[in-house]
Amino acid sequence: MLPTDPDYLYDVAIVGFGPTGALLANLLGRAGRSVLVLERDAEVHPLPRAVHFDGEAMRIFQSAGLAEAVLGVSRPSSKGMRFINAEGETLMERRGLEGVGPQGWANNWYFHQPRLDSALREGVAGLPNVTVALDHEVVRVDENADYVRLSAGAPLRTRGVTHQARYVVGCDGARSLIRRHMGVENDDLGLHQPWLVLDLLVDPASPRAQALPDHTMQLCDPARPMTMVHVGGRRRRWEIMLMPSDDPLVAIRPEKFWPLLSRWIASEDAVVERAAIYTFHSTIARQWRRRRLLLAGDACHQTPPFLGQGMCAGLRDAANLAWKLDAVLRRVAPDSLLDTYGSERIAHVRAFIELAVYLGGVIQATDKRGAAARDRHFREQGAEIFDFPQPQLGPGAHQDAPPPVGVIFPQPRLPDGRLLDEAIGWRFAVIGTARTLGGVTAQTRRHWHERDIMVIDEGGPVIEAWLAAHDCGALILRPDRYVFGTARTAADLDALTNALP
Ligand SMILES: Cc1cc2nc3c(=O)[nH]c(=O)nc-3n(C[C@H](O)[C@H](O)[C@H](O)COP(=O)(O)OP(=O)(O)OC[C@H]3O[C@@H](n4cnc5c(N)ncnc54)[C@H](O)[C@@H]3O)c2cc1C
Repeated sequence: MLPTDPDYLYDVAIVGFGPTGALLANLLGRAGRSVLVLERDAEVHPLPRAVHFDGEAMRIFQSAGLAEAVLGVSRPSSKGMRFINAEGETLMERRGLEGVGPQGWANNWYFHQPRLDSALREGVAGLPNVTVALDHEVVRVDENADYVRLSAGAPLRTRGVTHQARYVVGCDGARSLIRRHMGVENDDLGLHQPWLVLDLLVDPASPRAQALPDHTMQLCDPARPMTMVHVGGRRRRWEIMLMPSDDPLVAIRPEKFWPLLSRWIASEDAVVERAAIYTFHSTIARQWRRRRLLLAGDACHQTPPFLGQGMCAGLRDAANLAWKLDAVLRRVAPDSLLDTYGSERIAHVRAFIELAVYLGGVIQATDKRGAAARDRHFREQGAEIFDFPQPQLGPGAHQDAPPPVGVIFPQPRLPDGRLLDEAIGWRFAVIGTARTLGGVTAQTRRHWHERDIMVIDEGGPVIEAWLAAHDCGALILRPDRYVFGTARTAADLDALTNALP
């Protein structure tokens, strides 16, 4: 239900209820902000795009109170990813993913996106201060000094309704209306390539289906690059690169794609859920904020999916933006805090997209001589073991210092058995040795108390080792679990506290 008062002023209007918009609505709604979500489609998109998220994404879901719901619709996997050439040799590998990772959760998760999207939306449904309008396409944006007015209505209907919000976040995907309205250009990182995406439900009784690998395979065969993923249960994903001679309209026909899979599986082993062409892109919007308009998710960045990181980046955007919007709307931070959102996130997402583009170069080599040179290179140097980067945020709402400042902090269990973030909640935290924390001034202590900053002085062995490794006595952690700054001494910690936004 929408509030009937047409002049109602929301704190935040979110355009788009994909994973980015749904997570942001959960975080802002739980913080007590009044939120309106406007979504063009009437239902959750029935077909998946993303199939994988990482341990940090799971930690973000935890912050939004969604861990249990997400656990119910996803499965952890330690099987990693292998890049194999046409001869079956391993060129690159992501491995060592067993057990609980540094984020307090498994490192790798697979899921069926419609179920995940529904779980995120159910979280929002429990928040009375969040209003969701499905079947409402935003068609017009009017800005003024104090708020933004959005005109929205059922797609193709001419008469819409208008809504007002202090801030608008465009989580409206790659073709973002909000981005176009802002007139923002994209930086192009160079990879644009059509692929066929095939989702199959395999027959569990089929011996060929049973023999399929559990790890993700990137088949770097110059004759036909492909990706093969076990999503979970009967669900399998193949992504098949289109060659210049392929007609996209023909490539989606079963008689065309089954022969390409004949090495592993045949039509009698599986039901095709969908076959669709996606063009993978690598772009980053140059500006993520203009006055009261902000962008998040695919609206401001696109990555080829070789790392399974596009949605993860959108979740990180929401985690970075939510605490800043909340602080500005509660008037405990100036509006300029929102300028740090793009400056921090652009540098971070760039590191992931650049790695995905590099991997794209490895997988998509279709020139035989080039692929042979690539194979020789990896044969000589041995298979390259790689992992997801853990980049530093760009300049912004943190100390101006090298890593670990501006980098995600681990989430160990505390001596009382709780995960660190459970103990902290969604707020700033000061974590350090009892000696460093005990040495700060009474004014600093008062500051922590007044700002509801959590103090953790018995962090246990992982935190002690972290402090020792980084030669510091304490750190301040932001609500998005990135390190705001570190302090060697109590006096440093006094100064760091005074520098909080
Ligand atoms: C083949 C493929 C595989 C992928 N695999 C992975 C993976 O394994 N892991 C991963 O992390 N990422 C993956 N991705 C990327 C991931 O799917 C996207 O990054 C993610 O879905 C983006 O989420 P979003 O919420 O930002 O945008 P979207 O999911 O695009 O949602 C945007 C929403 O906005 C709505 N909307 C648009 N315009 C308007 C308007 N004017 N008014 C109202 N509503 C509007 C749309 O209806 C839509 O619901 C993959 C992508 C592809 C194509």
